Amino acid sequence: MTTLPDAAVRADEVGQRPTRIVVDLDALSHNLHALRIHAGVPVMGIVKANAYGHGLVPVARHLQAQGAEQLGVAFLEEGVALRRAGITLPILVMGGIFGPQAAQLIAEDLEITVSSIDKLRQVEAAAQALGRQATIHLKIDTGMERIGVHSYHAGPFIEAAVASRWCRVKGVYSHLACADDPASPMTRQQLGRFLEACAHFERIGAPMPLRHLANSGGLLHFPETHLDMVRPGIALYGVLPDPAAQPTVALRPVMSLVSQVVYFKVVPAGHPVSYGATWAPKADTRVVTVPIGYGDGFPRALSSRGEVLIRGRRHPIVGRICMDQFMVDIGPQGTAYNEDAVVLIGRQGDQAIGCEAVAQAAGTIPYEILVGLNGRIPREYVGGAQEPGSR
Ligand SMILES: *Cc1c(COP(=O)(O)O)cnc(C)c1O
Repeated sequence: MTTLPDAAVRADEVGQRPTRIVVDLDALSHNLHALRIHAGVPVMGIVKANAYGHGLVPVARHLQAQGAEQLGVAFLEEGVALRRAGITLPILVMGGIFGPQAAQLIAEDLEITVSSIDKLRQVEAAAQALGRQATIHLKIDTGMERIGVHSYHAGPFIEAAVASRWCRVKGVYSHLACADDPASPMTRQQLGRFLEACAHFERIGAPMPLRHLANSGGLLHFPETHLDMVRPGIALYGVLPDPAAQPTVALRPVMSLVSQVVYFKVVPAGHPVSYGATWAPKADTRVVTVPIGYGDGFPRALSSRGEVLIRGRRHPIVGRICMDQFMVDIGPQGTAYNEDAVVLIGRQGDQAIGCEAVAQAAGTIPYEILVGLNGRIPREYVGGAQEPGSR
C-alpha cells in the first residue's frame, strides 16, 4: 500500500515518484514484540509526529493488529485522526492541553494528560457539561521542567484528581530527560522522585493508577523504570535513541529512504557543482543527480557530508543539497545508469546507511531526521500481509 498526501495528484495518474519511504511492517512487529519481551509490561506505542515519519494511520493500525495495548500521540489532532481512521485502542494525548480542547478530547474518547490543578478543573468542567467522565493521566514533573506538577508539590494535585467525580485517574506518569545515556545519574533521580510522588496514592488510600515512565532510553537501559507500562517511540522504529550506547535489544530498522538516478554526466576537473559553487572535483569525475532535496526534509546539512549507496557502493554527496535534487560523485571509474536505485537510508547489498549515521553527518539526532521527512515523499508499506482487516 502506498499513500500520498491529500494534495498530491494520485500515483496512478502520473506514475509513482521514484523517491519513496519504504516502511517494513514486519520489522515494526519484530521491534514491538522484542521490546515487549524485554520490558515484560504492556506497551504504549508512541506514534506522534506522523509515527516518527513512518505514517500515522498505517503504523497505528499495524501496532493495533499486533497487540500493542495503547497508543500515545502529542496532540489532539493526531488523536482525532486515529479515531477517524477507526483505531479503537486507548490513545493518550501526551501534550499539554488548552482548556477549550477538553470537551473534544472527551468526546473523541481520547485520554487526557492533566498537568496542573487548573487543567484538572477545566477537564472536570468539560466532562460535567458533557455528562461523561474523562479518562486522565496525571503528569508529574520529575526533572524535565517541561509540563507537569513538580513531584515535590504532587500531593494536593493527586488528592484533587482522586476526589474528582468527573475524572477517572487511569495513569500517572513522568518523562525522562537523560535516559538515552546509560551513565547518567539523572534517570535514577527522576525515578526516585516519581515513586515518591506515586506513594501519595497509597498514603491517601487511593488505588494506584498505571505508573509509566520509560521512553525508549528508559526501556532499553533502565529496567527499573519499566513499572506498569512503557512508552517507546524511536525504538519501535528500530532506531536507537543514542547511537553511542550499547544496544540491549536487537531491533530492525523500519524505514528505508530510496530514490533513483535521474541524470548522469562527467564533470571536468575544477568545475564546481551546485549552488554556491562550494565543491569541485580535482580530476574529471562522474556525477549523478538524485531527485530528492531539502524540500522533502532531506537535510541540507548533508551537503558535501552525506553518503548514499548506488550499485552496492558508498558514494559521497557533493556540493549543496538543493530543494529537490542533489549530486553524488561516483568517481572517475564509477558506473551508474539513469534509474539505478539510490539508497539514502537502508541497505543495499552488504552496505547499509543507518538513520543514526545520517543524523551524525547532519549534526543532529536520528529523531529529527525521521520526523523531518515530509509528506511530499510517498510511503510504501511492505510486509505485515497476514493481517486481515489491518489495512
Ligand atoms: C515522545 C515521547 C515518548 C517517546 O520517546 P522516545 O525517546 O522516542 O522513545 C515517550 N513519552 C513522552 C511523554 C514523549 O513525549
